[in-house]
Amino acid sequence: MRQIRNFSIIAHIDHGKSTLADRIIQRCGGLAEREMDKQVLDSMALERERGITIKAQTASLLYTARDGQEYQLNLIDTPGHVDFSYEVSRSLSACEGALLVVDASQGVEAQTVANCYTAIEQDVEVVPVLNKIDLPAANPEQARAEIEDVIGVDATDAVMCSAKTGLGVEDVLEAVVARVPPPKGDPEAPLKALIIDSWFDSYVGVVILVRVVDGCIKAKDRMRLMATGAEYPVDQVGVFTPKSLVRDQLSAGDVGFIISGIKVLADAKVGDTVTLATRPAPKPLPGFKEIKSQVFAGLYPVESNEYDQLRESLEKLQLNDAALRFEPEVSEALGFGFRCGFLGLLHMDVVQERLEREFDIDLITTAPTVVYEVLLKDGATVRVENPAKLPDLSKIDEIREPIIRATIYVPQEYVGVVITLCTQKRGTQVDMRYHGRQVQLIYDMPMNEVVMDFFDRLKSASRGYASLDYEFKEYQSADLVKLDMLVNGEKVDALSVIVHRASAQYRGRELASKLRGIIPRQMFDVAVQAAIGSHIVARETIKALRKNVLAKCYGGDITRKRKLLEKQKEGKRRMKQVGAVEIPQEAFLAVLRTD
Ligand code: GDP
Ligand code: MG
Repeated sequence: MRQIRNFSIIAHIDHGKSTLADRIIQRCGGLAEREMDKQVLDSMALERERGITIKAQTASLLYTARDGQEYQLNLIDTPGHVDFSYEVSRSLSACEGALLVVDASQGVEAQTVANCYTAIEQDVEVVPVLNKIDLPAANPEQARAEIEDVIGVDATDAVMCSAKTGLGVEDVLEAVVARVPPPKGDPEAPLKALIIDSWFDSYVGVVILVRVVDGCIKAKDRMRLMATGAEYPVDQVGVFTPKSLVRDQLSAGDVGFIISGIKVLADAKVGDTVTLATRPAPKPLPGFKEIKSQVFAGLYPVESNEYDQLRESLEKLQLNDAALRFEPEVSEALGFGFRCGFLGLLHMDVVQERLEREFDIDLITTAPTVVYEVLLKDGATVRVENPAKLPDLSKIDEIREPIIRATIYVPQEYVGVVITLCTQKRGTQVDMRYHGRQVQLIYDMPMNEVVMDFFDRLKSASRGYASLDYEFKEYQSADLVKLDMLVNGEKVDALSVIVHRASAQYRGRELASKLRGIIPRQMFDVAVQAAIGSHIVARETIKALRKNVLAKCYGGDITRKRKLLEKQKEGKRRMKQVGAVEIPQEAFLAVLRTD
């Protein structure tokens, strides 16, 4: 077999994964200097702004090592956020090695650890890299000790580098050549290729990125997707350098793309196995699972006449985002919109921003919610993705909520506040360990408390130092109730939330008082009430407006007056008329924040 090395880079966000990837590509001549204007592996503009890598991408590079041999280094990019942990695990299982990049001035953090464990589980050789050694604050010895202590990986031979200046980057490549094992597959065996990623390209349709484990694939072959059994003729195969280059074939050990007649992204599922229809593999590669939405929210156009445009935009987004789910939904308060399913909160943010930015639609987003399993008295089980759709309490036997296992890393001095926060969020401590200056906390926590505002609060409680990673654990029965909000006597379905009974009254009061602050005063008194069923648990009154706000500016500076009017107009665009009252967008998100 040719000299191939397949590897990924894993790192906590901002530790320098993209910068190192770019350096490596540049060093191997993948792109000319002028093409390196921006970090090439983070392709979408939005990603660049947020500094995260959402879609796994790859580059096949040639490197002449110090031993004089030429190696083909396949760099497989992995997404860097907890929402995309399944994609990370698929990318890693396509590699024999992973560079574990740790910022030498920061040390080990939660996602480093989570991704590293995933790599170890997949039997991937982990090569520690201490990055940012150019920084005066860099403390490679401390970072090395943390890697050994926290992750349990031998870091004696950790490579030191600065992805920014390029110092030590060649040592990184030498370590890849020396320490990452070559791929083992059999090119003569029936084809087995793992789908690492897939996306929609407007010129060629669906592109799938595969790691060929066994066998060969070439143009005109008839391929079969093992999860569904669907078959397609292969039009083209090739590799990314990172520019795309057509090849005659891809064979065992290679990482490259396949273009075929697939029209819908959902048919090329990440983690599925591609084989040949003429000589199929007996068994797919292990580890495939259907990705399920974990978080749901309603998206409604502010202008109801933008509904069709919203649908078209969601369809377009879905072309490139197989994880995005949506279906039409009607809310009494918000009218026609869509219930959308996301992998997590970050995924939701990204979708929402793209809709507003790329498609220019003003949206009202309801509070995100998790999926509840509701056991009915008649024995049936229903999945509830929308609090407003919770069946009548008299029909419910049991409500089960998703529980996650959260791993938190936090410097010692913040451990107390973080534990308090986790307890407040109904967390149960599973483990607590001291690793030098860092403490590792493991908690089982209801996911609905996490989507609420846990991450923000964790960050502020720890002055930004705590890091979090989580995975779904199980469904557990809990004493949950639906809390409804009534404005001027009308139930605003989009404001309903499912909460624990013990905190329902408190949350009801808090929400009512928050809404009182957000909903502008009207010409009449407006009652804001919180209710569980027909039982009112809290009430606030928004006093009627007396004077015209503009009166304040009477005779005053005309530009100020115009500004005020513009501001009101701007505010109006984000208001929804509910009965006789206009409710601003922020009200729908206020349910999220707890103090
Ligand atoms: P990622 O989130 O892991 O992909 O991190 P990036 O590659 O986007 O890097 C995060 C930040 O750290 C950027 O501002 C980089 O310029 C900076 N950075 C990356 N590597 C180095 C390094 O070796 N030295 C210094 N001083 N800064 C670096
Ligand atoms: Mg990055």
